[in-house]
Amino acid sequence: MKKIKLWEDIWVDNCQLKVRFPRLFNNSLSIDNSLCCFGKWHINIWSWEFKRRREWFEWEKSQVDEFLSVLEGQILKSSWDDKWLWRDAQTCKYPVKFAYEILYNPTPSAFSDMYSVLWDLLIPPSTHCFAWRALQDRIATKQNLLRRSVHLVDFRCVLCGGKEETTSHLLLSCPTTNVVWNSCSKWIRVISVNHFALKEHFEQFYCSWFSKEDNKLWKGVCVSIIWCIWKHKNGVVFNQAKVDASEIFSLTQVQSWVWLKNKVPNVSLSFSN
Ligand SMILES: [Zn+2]
Repeated sequence: MKKIKLWEDIWVDNCQLKVRFPRLFNNSLSIDNSLCCFGKWHINIWSWEFKRRREWFEWEKSQVDEFLSVLEGQILKSSWDDKWLWRDAQTCKYPVKFAYEILYNPTPSAFSDMYSVLWDLLIPPSTHCFAWRALQDRIATKQNLLRRSVHLVDFRCVLCGGKEETTSHLLLSCPTTNVVWNSCSKWIRVISVNHFALKEHFEQFYCSWFSKEDNKLWKGVCVSIIWCIWKHKNGVVFNQAKVDASEIFSLTQVQSWVWLKNKVPNVSLSFSN
């Protein structure tokens, strides 16, 4: 426990805890310390203890609970020394043959096809880039700005003022954007349930009874929606525009129509909703 850095090392799941819980990392008084500095042994039972800069806001407490449940799910023993384990093998020992197979027969990325689909959509090149960055969680949401050490006073979503502004919240689960997605579903006459992760949502944004070409148009509408939400959010931040879900929806309708008519002149897209 002396060698493992709690925030820096990838010792839980496949992600650094400072990336997974950036607000907690930022509020920690011990950002560089090893695991043994974050608690005490009581006989043989480890008890986590955290020193923080300030008290938690009410809306951060669910993240704190999640963080603690992640930590408490780890098995720690005072008699164990720190050591590296080969995580992909059942034995946890490093087998050269296994590494060779990974290097020469890599498993195809679950999302490699998704990006091919994205680049094939009939939408403007700049929106391809925006959607690609959004799918990789690289757009400038408040959470991502925090990860880049940008100082912000308020981390709440500008569209609802409720939860922290993350990519998935802003583009999918925010109450304001939910209204937009529901209006768009009614407009296209497709009943859908939004996934709360953008990659999965984009992958599932298709209709089994649509042709391949129609699904390509449909996915273009998906990008149009997230693009219009993002533009509206920027209008609220930089031009003090009023948050208005119906305006985002109207903009999405116009935007989708312009994009698709430009690429597919005989496309049929009604404005009635
Ligand atoms: Zn929101």
